[in-house]
This record gives sequence, structure tokens and C-alpha cells, in this order.
Amino acid sequence: MDFNVTQIGTVDSEFEQPTGPDEMRDAECTIVVDDAYEDALYRIEDNDHFKIVFYIHEADEPTLRGPRRYGVERGTFACRSPNRPSPIGTTTVELLERDGLELRVRGLDAIDGTPVLDIKPYAPSLDQPDEQDEDRCEAPRGRIERAIRNREREELLLRTGEIHGHFCPYLALGVMAGVHAMRELKTESEGMEDIVAIVETNSCFADGVQIVTGCTFGNNALIYRDFGKTAVTLVSRDNPDEGVRVHVKEREEIIERDYPAARELFDRVIGEGKGTPADRERLTERWAEVAFDLIERPIHDLCDVESGVAVDLPDRAPVFEDAICADCGESVMAPKAVERDGERYCRDCVDGSFLQLDGRGLGRIEPSE
Ligand SMILES: [Zn+2]
Ligand SMILES: [Zn+2]
Repeated sequence: MDFNVTQIGTVDSEFEQPTGPDEMRDAECTIVVDDAYEDALYRIEDNDHFKIVFYIHEADEPTLRGPRRYGVERGTFACRSPNRPSPIGTTTVELLERDGLELRVRGLDAIDGTPVLDIKPYAPSLDQPDEQDEDRCEAPRGRIERAIRNREREELLLRTGEIHGHFCPYLALGVMAGVHAMRELKTESEGMEDIVAIVETNSCFADGVQIVTGCTFGNNALIYRDFGKTAVTLVSRDNPDEGVRVHVKEREEIIERDYPAARELFDRVIGEGKGTPADRERLTERWAEVAFDLIERPIHDLCDVESGVAVDLPDRAPVFEDAICADCGESVMAPKAVERDGERYCRDCVDGSFLQLDGRGLGRIEPSE
């Protein structure tokens, strides 16, 4: 069967001849799109990465099998040889800049003059191998639950880094505490308040707990008690007398005793705010090293663990109806509205006091006079 494909642009590159793939992948080049396809570039800047499909115009006769890179013999469909029955190349590139019909990209391993056949946004859901992809709608936490079962704490720490943004000791301890409690309760979490976590701190520890237990601020399965202790109690609603509490013992001492250099750096950079940018970078590295070291240690070295903890749980989160604030017109959960002279207002508009959770914990904010 024959098909029609169309050249939609051309590669403008410093490489006249195929060069080492690594060297080409590091370089920048320009894709010049033909006038006729200008409309097809509309909002292309919304994406950073693209799959470029191109015609390998200087390919040799196709070979179906032969020695490939590093001398190993392979079939053409088992390697990236340019000499293929359909001499088509695909590469993922980063879009650096668009100037009219010209796309400056990095990572394209195509030589100067290569006809470009198509440009598509890179879509991780389609382009990235992911064995579990098909299960992710049914079991969004499938991989996390599997990692808990397999005690893959490092994998869980890596995942937690995705929302936490950095790796640090308390994040690791939160992951450890979460894994231990989930395994003790022999449970999985669907984020529907069947499993509830009560955290006693809003430090980095709480993020480790949230990812591993699936009990989060937003799904109301996370309860915050403002005790300032690095501790979490995990409990199932079915069995509220059988909670598991994990408390990090000697909170400060662990780091001071076992990782003194990292601690000293932390005190200087964060505590006193005195470090240079290089110190800051070093701290990020050292802190991550500490986190990945801690995560492999036995939990009983670092934490007190208690089972059979009875927990007084609030009812499941109610569904509130909305009120409309008579001043700003925004909708507000009715029980949170304030009544004044028969009208309902949001707390922001009445300028009364309110509760705020921030880095200091939970506190009442008084109106500014
Ligand atoms: Zn942190
Ligand atoms: Zn208002």
C-alpha cells in the first residue's frame, strides 16, 4: 500500500553530514515551516516538547539486518538505523523559540535540508512507556500502593519529591511513617476518608504522609492538630480504636548526631540566612543525601511506634450549601458566612478575625485596624 505524505518544512542545521547522535542531540537547529502551514502553528508555544517526524532523504538502500551501533547485529526494526524500508525518523525536541515560521529547537538529529513531515506535541501519556497506564483511571494510587506493599521507600520518596519540590530529612521521615502505618493497618487508601491521617505538624513531614497515605488536605482525610510534634496517627474509620501512631523521636538530635555537616550547613543557610548561593546548592544536595540515607534505616531507630491507639474522629466531611456574600457577590460555604443585619457576608468582607494555617501553624488573624 502506498500513502501520501507531505513535506511541511525543512531542517536548517549546521550539520551537513550525519554526526555522532549525542553531538547532534546537544545542538540547536531551526525547522523552517512552509508558508502554507502557518495556521497549523497556532499556539504551538503552549508546549515545550515536540515529536518531529522527518524523511531521511540521504538514507542508503534499506538493510533488514546488520551490525549496528557497538557492533551488535540487529534487525532494522530493532534499531534506529536510518536505512529503513520507510526512511522516516522521529525525534523528541525542545522548542526554544518561535519566530514566525521558524522554530528553533534543540535535540533534532536530522541533517541540513532534511524534509520535515510532521510536528506533534510530545504527550507523556502517549509517548512515555508506562506499563500501568491503563490502570491509572481505575486505581490512581496503584503504583503507590504497590510500592508500599513492596517496601519501596526510595520510590515513594522520589514520588513525594514531585509535590514537595526538594528532598529533605523530614520528608523522608514522613514517607517512612506513612509506609509503616499503612502496612500496620494492612490497608489501602482511596482518599475517601475511610483512612484518616492525623498529623501534628505542617512541616515537610506532612507531605511525606500525604503522598504515602493518600490522606490529603483536599480530600479531608488529613486532620491537622497543631501540636508541633513530628507525628502522625493513621486510623481506619472501621476500627477507630486501632490507630497507629508514629512519632519521630529526638527530632533535632537525629540530624545533629548522624549528619553533623549537613546540619551545620542547614543552620547557616536556613537558620541564619547567611549562606552563599553555592552553600544553598550544597545544602540541597546534602539534604537529599540525608533523606535517601534515612529512608533506608530501620524505623525503630528513628521513631516511636504505637499501635492500638484510640482516635476520636470527626464525622465525614459534610457537603455545605452555598451562600452569596452580600458585598463581594462570591459564593461561600453557608456555615462560613457571617450574618450582619439580616445579610450574609464572607469573612473577608466583614473584616473579622479568621483562622489561618501557615508556617507558624494554625493561628487566628485579627482584623487590621
Ligand atoms: Zn522539605
Ligand atoms: Zn465577600
